Amino acid sequence: EELYGVKRWGAGYFSIGENGNIKIAPNHRLPDVTIDMKEVVDEIIAEGIQLPAVIRFHDILRSQVEILNETFQQTIEQADYQGKYTGVFPIKVNQMREVVEEIIDAGEPYNYGLEAGSKPELMAVMAYNENPEALTILNGYKDEDYLTLALLGRNLQRKMIIVIEKYSELEMLIPLARKYNVEPMIGLRSKMMVKSTGKWSGSSGDRAKFGLSIAEILNIVERLRQEDMLHCAKLLHFHIGSQLSDIRKIKEAVSEGARLYAKLVQMGVPLEYLDIGGGLGIDYDGTSSTTDSSRNYSTDEYVADVVWGVKQVCDLEKVPHPNLVSESGRAITAHHSCVVTNIVGEVKPSSVDYDISPEDGEHILVSNMRELVSAEELHPQERYNDAASNKASAYEAFKFGILSLPEMAKIDTMYWQILSDIHADLDKDSYIIQELEELEDMLASQYLCNFSIFQSAADTWAIGQVLPIVPISRLEEQPQVRCSIADITCDSDGKLSKYIEGTEISDNIPMHTLKKGEEYHVGMFLTGAYQDVMGDMHNLFGRLTEVHVYCHDDEPGDFYIEEVVPGTSAEKVLETMQYNTDFMAKTVKKSIDRQVRKGSLAPREGVRWTDFYEKCLAGSTYLKV
Ligand code: PLP
Repeated sequence: EELYGVKRWGAGYFSIGENGNIKIAPNHRLPDVTIDMKEVVDEIIAEGIQLPAVIRFHDILRSQVEILNETFQQTIEQADYQGKYTGVFPIKVNQMREVVEEIIDAGEPYNYGLEAGSKPELMAVMAYNENPEALTILNGYKDEDYLTLALLGRNLQRKMIIVIEKYSELEMLIPLARKYNVEPMIGLRSKMMVKSTGKWSGSSGDRAKFGLSIAEILNIVERLRQEDMLHCAKLLHFHIGSQLSDIRKIKEAVSEGARLYAKLVQMGVPLEYLDIGGGLGIDYDGTSSTTDSSRNYSTDEYVADVVWGVKQVCDLEKVPHPNLVSESGRAITAHHSCVVTNIVGEVKPSSVDYDISPEDGEHILVSNMRELVSAEELHPQERYNDAASNKASAYEAFKFGILSLPEMAKIDTMYWQILSDIHADLDKDSYIIQELEELEDMLASQYLCNFSIFQSAADTWAIGQVLPIVPISRLEEQPQVRCSIADITCDSDGKLSKYIEGTEISDNIPMHTLKKGEEYHVGMFLTGAYQDVMGDMHNLFGRLTEVHVYCHDDEPGDFYIEEVVPGTSAEKVLETMQYNTDFMAKTVKKSIDRQVRKGSLAPREGVRWTDFYEKCLAGSTYLKV
């Protein structure tokens, strides 16, 4: 637990069982009821499902919805706050239908709503958020169709709030509202002055992409007053960025937003809701700090700062407490899904078994390296320096045609052997020479994982996000090797470069040696927010197979697989790139038939190869192991 930080990033959902397997306690109300992740994976494999797969624990999703809503409700009660909490889930964070359905279902007792940021998302939320008491918040840039769909929502008695991001949207909305004779509910998104920190700091400040300046807000208020539509202005919105790591920025934003809200109400704008956007962070790296992959606060603290912060400002300004809306996406979904994959190979710099025996007339550089192989008496730094300079000279000699290929192979093999020996003999406590410390990284293996980082962990590649990686079993055993995790894309960028090791972030990760005949499964956790839906088609790998896991209510600790959503087949990904797979199959068949006619393939073989090509088209894009 300590080594991989499972307890720290696990938020109570993940831990390590006595049998060395990852344990999951998906229901926050029943923390002692756990399921064994290895049993889940074994069942997936027994059902003939090929890894890699996304495993969704729907009970975690429900727990997160309950925790957020109940924390707001309890804090509101404790603070004697007069407004309600009516949160929304921003579907851009995970638009999977099953995820949205689960959130809507779990959120029903709290009138938990949805947020959309684009036209297709708006169409989805219209169909899935039918609760007339729950809000539908409409963000993002809008055109006439977007606004008209929102007006249709009002006709359906939904609480659809059109958040005006820029002045021109209001000028588009006014005539449409008149044309369809619908009274819209309007929100105003404020461009905040507080400067947030972290990867999404661009979401606030003067240069923010979205939102209205104070001058624009006042112009909009005036315009609405002229049109006799001021009563439609219901909500003030702000969002200063996702994954806010420092609670002080949240407090500042709440205080700025609440002050703006109060001043607008005092001017006669009949606002009822204050929407604080998203930003509630996740402790991905388990450090509980202000790193970009963590947060220095808990959900309780976040909620308390929002509720008490808004109350204090509104009491001072003598305006009624607004209903509070938040748009937490990451915090709702991150924990519920993980990617489970298998290791399909190991790339080791020092693993090649090559005969290094001396030969008559061999080059002096080869014999020099051989002497270093047995020079255990030398100081490790001196032995390392000599080996490194000998290798560099050998490279130069090879370029001038002085060394043969077998000689080069011997030098390389001996070099890595020397480095491994130096590393093995080093007294870890006296690691003082920096170059020797780097030996660990130089000798680290790469474990090849059957997945694509671009598909399943886009943020690790794009913004240096840390995601926890842990073997799902053998955790009672001390790991024996250090390695990095590389994916199966043909891109050297396709590897993870940051790993959790204890309370540190390391360049590589301790793992267990691979045993012949045993599958070693690794889980990448906390992938439920953004990672699940941002994947791209790099190398045409496409979506992973999804397995939806639920806990048995009547048999604590037991689970069942409710649904399996097959991953994208090779033909499906090819079709999204405009390939006609029927045409491809026919063309390949024709080429095979030609060889059959020529006699270079037997007819029976021709049929077999044709079937095989078609089977591969219908099959998985990932490696079959
Ligand atoms: N609301 C808006 C307007 C956003 O832009 C975002 C994401 O950046 C969110 C909500 C969700 O934020 P988070 O996932 O940090 O909760």
